[in-house]
Amino acid sequence: MSTYDVAIIGSGPGGYVAAIRCAQLGMKTALIEKYTTLGGTCLNVGCIPSKALLDSSHHYEDALKHFEEHGIEIPGEIKLNFKKMIDRKQSVVDQTTKGIEFLMNKNKVDVFTGTGSFKDATHIEITGEKNQTIEAKHAIIATGSKPASLPFIKIDKERIITSTEALKLTEVPKHFIVIGGGVIGLELGQVYRRLGAEVSVVEYMDRIIPTMDSAQSKELTKVMKKQGVKFYVSHKVSAVTRKKNEVTVTATDKKDNEVTFTGDYCLVSVGRRPFTDGLKAENAGVKINERGMVEVNEHLQTNIKNIYAIGDVVRGAMLAHKAEEEGVFVAETIAGQKPHIDYNLIPGVVYTWPEVASVGKTEEQLAEAGVAFKVGQFPMRALGRSRASGDTDGFVKILSHKETDEVLGVHMVGARVADLIAEAVTAMEFRASAEDIARMSHAHPTYAEAVKEAALAATEDRALHV
Ligand code: FAD
Ligand code: NAD
Repeated sequence: MSTYDVAIIGSGPGGYVAAIRCAQLGMKTALIEKYTTLGGTCLNVGCIPSKALLDSSHHYEDALKHFEEHGIEIPGEIKLNFKKMIDRKQSVVDQTTKGIEFLMNKNKVDVFTGTGSFKDATHIEITGEKNQTIEAKHAIIATGSKPASLPFIKIDKERIITSTEALKLTEVPKHFIVIGGGVIGLELGQVYRRLGAEVSVVEYMDRIIPTMDSAQSKELTKVMKKQGVKFYVSHKVSAVTRKKNEVTVTATDKKDNEVTFTGDYCLVSVGRRPFTDGLKAENAGVKINERGMVEVNEHLQTNIKNIYAIGDVVRGAMLAHKAEEEGVFVAETIAGQKPHIDYNLIPGVVYTWPEVASVGKTEEQLAEAGVAFKVGQFPMRALGRSRASGDTDGFVKILSHKETDEVLGVHMVGARVADLIAEAVTAMEFRASAEDIARMSHAHPTYAEAVKEAALAATEDRALHV
C-alpha cells in the first residue's frame, strides 16, 4: 500500500493548489479526483468556461452594436456561430485543465482518478477504473460544491437547468428565465442576452447581488436594464413546470399577486451546496453539520486532528481564490508554519460588463455596526480613459473611517474593475488610509485614476475631475 504525508480529495482550486504547496514544502502528496479532468468546478464548469462565454459574447455584442461608432464597418450581416463559441469555450477549458496535469507532474504529485472515501482516519479507498487504498498521515477534504435548488423544482438538465448545462447549450434560448439574481444568474443571463435571448431575472430579495453594496446593485440593475435584461425583484418563486419545450415559472410579488413567466429555458441559480456525497466522512469520524458543510476550526482542521477541509465544502464565500488561499494555509499549517488568512480581504467580483468588484465592508455593514465612516465616490464617466473606450458606466466608491481615514471597504462597478480591485486589497492589507491612496501617482489615462479620485473624495471631498 502506498503511503503519503498528505492525501487531498478533490482537485478544484482548493485541492490542486494545496497539492502544489504541500509538494513545495517537501511532503509526499497524493491528489484524488473522481473525474478524468483536474481543476474541479472552477476550471471545468465554473469560472473558466463562464468567462470564456462572457468574453466571446462581449465581442459579438461589440461587433453588433459598437463597431460602427468606432468607424468599423463590416459589409454584410454579422452572424453568430453558437456551436463554434461553445467549442472554443471547451478548448479553453481543455487547455486549462491540461495545465493542471502539467503542474501536478512538475511538482511530483501522484494523481489518482476515482472517488475517494475514508476507510478510517488514515486510509482512503479510491474507487475508479482501478480500486486501491492508500495510507495518509494527513488528509485534506476539498470536495467542493454542487448547484443548490429549491425543494419544489425538478432540475431536468434539459430545459430546467443549472449553470453546468447553461454552459453547453446547443441553441440560444428564446426566453431565458433566471431564478436568482446572484453572480451566476447575472453572468450567464448577460451572456444569453447578448446572444439575442429575452432574459428575465426573478430574484427573491429586493435587489440583485444582495450581499454586495447597494450602490452596486442599483448601478448594475440600471445598466443591465439598458442592455435589455428584465428584473423582477421581491418575487418569490413557488413553482416551475415544463410542458415539452416550454417552461413556466410561477412567483408571487411583493403585493402577493401571482406572476407567471413562460420561456424555453429556466436557469436555477439560487446558490450552491457543499458536496460530500460518497466521501464516507463518518468512517473517519469527521463531523458534517446540518447544512452539509464539513465543520472546521480556525486552522481549517476538522474534529479529527489529522484531517483538514478547505474551499466550498467549508464555511465562507464560495470563491476559487478563497479556496486557493485555504489550500496554501492548510499545507503550511501541516508543515508546522503559522499562516494567516484575512477573510475580510477576499475580494468578490461579478464578471458582467461593466464588471462589479468589492472588498471589505459595505456601506450597509458599516452602518449596521455603528462605525463612523466617510464616503468618496467617483464616476467612471469623468475619466478620459472611459470616454476613449466608450465604457462610461459605473463608479469607484471608497469607505474610510471617519476619524482615522483607514480604508474599510472599496466597491466598484466599471470596465476592468475585476483587476482594479487588487489595488484596494493591497491598500487594505497594509491598512492604508484613503489619503495614502490619494497621494499615490496613478498612470494617466487609466481606469485606476477613478480609485485615486474616489480616495481624494473620501479624504477631503477634493476629487479633481468632477
Ligand atoms: P471544486 O472546484 O468544486 O472542486 C471539488 C472537486 O472535488 C471536484 O472536481 C469534484 O469532482 C471532486 N470530488 C468531490 N468529491 C470527491 C470524492 N469523494 N473523490 C474524489 N473527488 C471528489 N469563483 C470565483 O472565484 N470566480 C469566478 O469567476 C467563479 N465563477 C463561477 C462560475 C460558475 C458557473 C460556478 C458554478 C462557480 C464559479 N465560481 C467562481 C466558484 C468556484 O468555482 C468555486 O468556489 C471553486 O471551484 C471551489 O473550489 P473547491 O476546490 O473548493 O471545489
Ligand atoms: P448567489 O448566492 O450568488 O446568488 C443566489 C441568488 O438567488 C441570491 O441573490 C438569492 O437572493 C437568490 N435566491 C435564493 N433563493 C431564491 C428563490 N427562492 N427565488 C428567487 N431567488 C432566490 O449564488 P449563485 O449565483 O447560484 O452562485 C453560487 C456560488 O458560486 C456563489 O456563492 C458564488 O460565490 C459562486 N460564483 C462566483 C462567481 C464569481 O466569483 N464571479 C461566479 C459564479 C459563481
